[in-house]
Amino acid sequence: MQTIDLLRKLSDAFGVSGFEDAVRELIRDLVTPFVDEVKTDALGNLFAIRRSGNPNAQTLMLDAHIDEIGFIVKWVEEDGFLRFAPLGGWDPRIVPGHRVEIQTRSGRIQTGVIGTAPPHILSDEERKAPLPLGKMFIDIGATYREDVTSRGVRIGDPLTIHYPFMPLTDDCVTGKAFDDRAGCAVLLETAERLAGQDQDVNVVFAFVFGEEVGLRGARTAAFQIEPDLAIAVEGTIGADMPGVPEHSQPVRLGHGPAISVADRSIIVTRKVLHAMESIADTAGIAYQYKLPTYGGTDAGAIHLTRCGVLAGIVSVPCRYIHSPISTLRLSDFEATSRYVTELVKHLPRAVL
Ligand SMILES: [Zn+2]
Repeated sequence: MQTIDLLRKLSDAFGVSGFEDAVRELIRDLVTPFVDEVKTDALGNLFAIRRSGNPNAQTLMLDAHIDEIGFIVKWVEEDGFLRFAPLGGWDPRIVPGHRVEIQTRSGRIQTGVIGTAPPHILSDEERKAPLPLGKMFIDIGATYREDVTSRGVRIGDPLTIHYPFMPLTDDCVTGKAFDDRAGCAVLLETAERLAGQDQDVNVVFAFVFGEEVGLRGARTAAFQIEPDLAIAVEGTIGADMPGVPEHSQPVRLGHGPAISVADRSIIVTRKVLHAMESIADTAGIAYQYKLPTYGGTDAGAIHLTRCGVLAGIVSVPCRYIHSPISTLRLSDFEATSRYVTELVKHLPRAVL
């Protein structure tokens, strides 16, 4: 599949934290042709496994999280408005005034809007301060609580602000969920590139749930896989934009894959970091560092599993993550995808 179509399908799929079924089934279909076995676990991780011909082979875990930040319906008012709570880290300033898609118990999508009081009726004070999430509401066009329930919308249904994938230029695309469907797409392309080649390691592509609510899937995934080495692949904080000084831009678009040295969840072992640098140099892939110590990743949970696991992080630079309009460059994506394939080929021998 063309990269642009892969990103479109993945970003448009519904997959709010804890409600990842639709995106997981999509990924299952896409990865199955390239691996020996596909399986899921009780909580919703998906593992796609490529076994080495060597029975004593060690195991490399490639991780990407399938969930996206969203919301959950927490109350239905008598006049048909919905109250909601966040799943994952939202900035309340950007939430009002958008269209949302609510996934009902039956899987039907109900469209609604996050209403906002017109400026005409706000006091000076109200206009200055962002409205807290707890005071916001969703309007699905209902008049009574019964209208809401008759459409199948109930307390506990997940929802997300939905902006469909869209190219901005030949190289720049925008969509709602590149954090971390960009990482999922990297894993899928890597699986395709490796198909038919023998490696000296078993490779487990781990598509994990619940990263945005506390690295939940990665923790149980790593326990089961018992990897000797892991690489987490993320869509991460591109902040090269007006008003942000260069030293506060964790990563920048157009500068290739970002290698993490340290974030809030892990300090990458020097041996792993040095090997990652030299593999990029040898392959002629230009890279950047993700500046310490912004954000946390699944690698944080994975490296603390059992007796400890060597782990590294590679990211596709994405602007505006944790908003419905994440934006990336296909050229950065393509370089990251090639780089992760090189890492699968060379990193295990370099560090294990
Ligand atoms: Zn993420």
